[in-house]
Amino acid sequence: MDLTYTDDQKAFRDEVRAFLDEKLPKRLSDKVAGGKRLTKEDYEDWHAILNAQGWLGVNWPKEHGGTGWDAVQRHIFEEETTRAHAPRIVPFGLNMLGPVLMKFGSKEQQAHYLPRILNGDDWWCQGYSEPGAGSDLASVKTTAVREGEHYIVNGQKTWTTLGQYANMIFCLVRTSKDGKPQEGISFLLIDMDTPGVTVRPIVLIDGEAEVNEVWFEDVKVPAENLVGEENKGWTYAKYLLTHERTNIAGVGFATSALANLKRIAGLEQSGGKPLIQNPFFAAKMAQVEIDLMAMATTNLRTIAAAAAGNAPGAESSMLKIKGTVIRQEINALTRQAVGPYAMPFVSEALDEGANVEPVGPGYALPATQSYFNNRKLSIYGGSNEVQRQIISKAILEL
Ligand SMILES: Cc1cc2nc3c(=O)[nH]c(=O)nc-3n(C[C@H](O)[C@H](O)[C@H](O)COP(=O)(O)OP(=O)(O)OC[C@H]3O[C@@H](n4cnc5c(N)ncnc54)[C@H](O)[C@@H]3O)c2cc1C
Repeated sequence: MDLTYTDDQKAFRDEVRAFLDEKLPKRLSDKVAGGKRLTKEDYEDWHAILNAQGWLGVNWPKEHGGTGWDAVQRHIFEEETTRAHAPRIVPFGLNMLGPVLMKFGSKEQQAHYLPRILNGDDWWCQGYSEPGAGSDLASVKTTAVREGEHYIVNGQKTWTTLGQYANMIFCLVRTSKDGKPQEGISFLLIDMDTPGVTVRPIVLIDGEAEVNEVWFEDVKVPAENLVGEENKGWTYAKYLLTHERTNIAGVGFATSALANLKRIAGLEQSGGKPLIQNPFFAAKMAQVEIDLMAMATTNLRTIAAAAAGNAPGAESSMLKIKGTVIRQEINALTRQAVGPYAMPFVSEALDEGANVEPVGPGYALPATQSYFNNRKLSIYGGSNEVQRQIISKAILEL
């Protein structure tokens, strides 16, 4: 296994850097670096810039308008875009639904939806979780009953990320109550403008409403919106989750957050010296950096194995746990570093052009919000407890 880049890979990295220097708007990178709130238009602007370059479908094959990049190129791209503070790409259409349609969708669905994902014509959201069906996803209760050429959908989804911006939702729905719960689930595409769909925001602990409840009351969905076969949705749902968990380690995000922490610890004072010289605090920072370096190596090992054609197994679970614990620890240290300025959270000051003065230094402003927001990391994408169960079975054979 070789963990160093080849000359071709270095040339690719330079190409990505040159592109980011030229095309990533400073307005956007300043917002990301400063922990400011991104608007729907911000996400759409960056989506359009990448699409114009042909670099949007990073894990899509060329035949569907993707880059056709291998695992190492995707890793380099991810590393460089995070380093440059590019906005994240909203994953629901590109990373989740796209691969499912390519593998299980009809030719008509592929021809209709895939170009619309790349062009940003549709904003997709993920309708998997329900109250009572999160980790235990097979318990979904939202029903879809076939009536002629339509399904009539009733039920509720929850935690729907950025559903307030979406015009389309892909849902796991119950089409049969016979047999095992997994055998009665179907995968349905629903236009959110259909009568009977209601989106209600959920305000989270950080004061933001990035997630929603989505309610369905007698929603009439054309039968042609079924992906694959009726009652086979569990297979497609699991396939989608393997794509949801790509880049699960979040090395780029952690590296960027650690650099920010070091900068703040160099500016904040403790006992008349920069905080970074406080042995107690420096030891905590060193520990998290060591953990990050070790995880980055494990991540590269997984990528090298993937490049050699080996699908990642329980390593994804290890990376999910380590990646999220490290990011949450960096968030906690950043919040500690800004001391009392972590307390006065002025939400409006996170907006572009706000004329509200933050209390304390600008870098303190997003510290608490990020700390609270990133509690989610160890819950979604398969909670860390569930990942530990996977490791205990697959690696430790318990
Ligand atoms: C910010 C955020 C955004 C989200 N976005 C979306 C989205 O866009 N679309 C979507 O469909 N879903 C989304 N989710 C939902 C997410 O996938 C679920 O929250 C997650 O699967 C956990 O399910 P749950 O919340 O129902 O908790 P539960 O499954 O009820 O778990 C409760 C607790 O029990 C533990 N637990 C459960 N089962 C086991 C087990 N077998 N072994 C050990 N411990 C266990 C869990 O770890 C957790 O601590 C989002 C969640 C969050 C927090």
